[in-house]
Amino acid sequence: MSVRIFCDFDGTMTVTDNILMIMEHYNPPNWRSIVEDMMRGTRSIRDGVGSLFSLIPSALREDIVRTVMDKATLRPGVLGLLTHAHACGVPFYVVSGGIDFFIRPILAHIPPSYFAGVYCNSASFDPPTITITWPHPCGDACTDDCGMCKTTVMRHVPFAHTTIVIGDSITDYNAAKQADIVFARAHLYRHCLAHGVPCIAYETFYDIMDTLVHDARTRDAFTLHRLGGRS
Ligand code: MG
Ligand code: ZN
Repeated sequence: MSVRIFCDFDGTMTVTDNILMIMEHYNPPNWRSIVEDMMRGTRSIRDGVGSLFSLIPSALREDIVRTVMDKATLRPGVLGLLTHAHACGVPFYVVSGGIDFFIRPILAHIPPSYFAGVYCNSASFDPPTITITWPHPCGDACTDDCGMCKTTVMRHVPFAHTTIVIGDSITDYNAAKQADIVFARAHLYRHCLAHGVPCIAYETFYDIMDTLVHDARTRDAFTLHRLGGRS
């Protein structure tokens, strides 16, 4: 049975959330109340993320990339799962509300062929401040004004019998509801629990790999079948 993986980036593939880290580092006026509005749901994610970056001067682009590269760490086991999924032919999609100018440098040392797709936001650096552009907006079936709409991406990429979602935050919840298997930590874990959405807790991607190679729904897809070799 075919399997596909949709994986969040900030706080999931990386240990911490890079947008929050950038805001904490540059500390533009009023950013915390924008984040609070997003978490409370009184401001859409698109509105909130767009507003946050509009507080940051475009000229800081290179400085931001350096800061992110200094501070961001991949979660243990990420490379192992990517390598194994690639070897088994299981498509791995990154679905992120983050921005390509800091995501691409963090992923630069991983072979691009390991990703079936990297879906995230983009930015324009025309002065004076950063403008987020939204190449993957909500389709007709979503009214949440996500900015980067994870469920719309899931509907548009090739189908598989088993869909896996890996995430850490409330922004992964709609994707989680459409998954067959959810790996959740932090806010996403508590939210799934509170709303009766089945999920599996993880801390590292080694935990996820361990489940996938043993779970009856996925173990065949995650077994490397040696071709030939009979002599
Ligand atoms: Mg996240
Ligand atoms: Zn949406």
